Amino acid sequence: MTDTDYDLVVIGGGSGGVRAARMAAARGARVALAEDDRMGGTCVIRGCVPKKLMVFASAYPELMAEARDYGWDVTSGPFDWTAFRTRLHAELDRLEGVYRRMLDGSGVTTFNARATLADPHTVALSTGETLRARHILVATGGHPVRPPLPNAEHGLVSDDLFHLETLPKTLLIVGGGFIACEFAGIMNGLGVKVTQYYRGAQILRGFDDEARGLVAEHMRADGIDLHTGTNLLEMEPVTGGLRVKATNGSQQVFEQVLFATGRTPNTAGIGLEQAGVRLGRRGEIQVDAYSQTAVPSIYAIGDVTDRVNLTPVAIREAMNFVQTVFGGEPTPTDHDQIPSAVFTQPELGSIGLTEEAARAQEPVEVYCTSFRPMRQAFIGGSKRVMMKLVVSIATRKVLGCHIVAPEAGEMIQLVGIAIKMGATKEDIDRVVAVHPTMSEELVTMRQPIRSE
Ligand code: NDP
Repeated sequence: MTDTDYDLVVIGGGSGGVRAARMAAARGARVALAEDDRMGGTCVIRGCVPKKLMVFASAYPELMAEARDYGWDVTSGPFDWTAFRTRLHAELDRLEGVYRRMLDGSGVTTFNARATLADPHTVALSTGETLRARHILVATGGHPVRPPLPNAEHGLVSDDLFHLETLPKTLLIVGGGFIACEFAGIMNGLGVKVTQYYRGAQILRGFDDEARGLVAEHMRADGIDLHTGTNLLEMEPVTGGLRVKATNGSQQVFEQVLFATGRTPNTAGIGLEQAGVRLGRRGEIQVDAYSQTAVPSIYAIGDVTDRVNLTPVAIREAMNFVQTVFGGEPTPTDHDQIPSAVFTQPELGSIGLTEEAARAQEPVEVYCTSFRPMRQAFIGGSKRVMMKLVVSIATRKVLGCHIVAPEAGEMIQLVGIAIKMGATKEDIDRVVAVHPTMSEELVTMRQPIRSE
């Protein structure tokens, strides 16, 4: 056993942990990072990155159909999942290598080992080594959960999707959140017959109602058999897949079932409570605005704290942690007005308050337009896009913006800058339109469609 002293020991090599380790090392701190799986975490290895590459792959059938309508002589063959998967994993290997090299290059000592807290300043590794640390940062992320249901272990979770031997012919997706809706679109685009059960009245709870409605409409128009107010009751393995009984009385066999029923923080079995760290009801580490836990030497960032579970938020929390602890400048993380995108087809981009939340807060004006963009109208397509601004009557500030459109993720990033700066409706109006684009509608909406 070795006893080694560090200024910082990071547990977890995902986006947040790696950023904190590198930034602290760049300030001259002696830093170690322990990760028992692949470097890069959920985002790089089994989340955002492979998901987005699958979104790209799944878009081609629609693009090819569109190309034909635009006059191209295009015939499409079948999708070669094995060829795509091989290329996907080669890309993930490359990115993992980049992460490892960045850590090595910044002088961080990495350990491929499982870490547990022995006390507020000591981390024990599965290799038998012990690391003494002035500060410990827990950045262990989360993992997908299956509902407590007999035979649930026969269902897939999102981690499994990138490793499938073959694509199923039929897939039932359970859930109505980010992962369920994104993979419904992906699998449907790749040629899988997708059925989706969501227990609530409308998918994407927490997003703007009109935007959710339009996304659901598009999903159904694309061929996804989406059932709201429906849940899975029982399932059992049978020849050819899983027989599923649903709350709507139906019985059906699906080749595979995907549980996209939420994620839970990775806090079990790492000695957190014994060290004095407080956990919340969902098993998340409780932290203050500086990401400090109940134990002064222990901090936590990212999904393990279950605040806003998005990669760029974990990275921001990492930077602020380093600034606070190693930069001598206490820097809280601002979790307000964070733009985000759901990569459905089309995408949903969102920042700030939904119309419903804003209306509950104060009197608002709602500017909203929904139209067939030029590219669709030309070929007689029916897909509409939507742009909405929710404006405070009292301050004229834009409280929220919601966009359903191709590339809405790109749009919301840019309009998000103005909104985060506190733009008023009149500031937006002063901008001249870029023509012809879809997003020009954001600066040309003159009359509120609702006001109260
Ligand atoms: P979400 O919390 O978004 O969605 C979980 C879904 O499962 C909800 O529709 C929920 O229903 C439903 N559900 C939960 N328990 C059950 C149950 N027992 N039976 C049936 N349905 C159930 O989780 P996800 O796993 O989709 O994503 C996790 C997080 O990861 C997201 O919140 C997001 O922060 C992040 N993420 C971000 C992405 C992006 O930025 N594009 C992409 C993917 C993930 P109900 O609404 O009724 O609770």
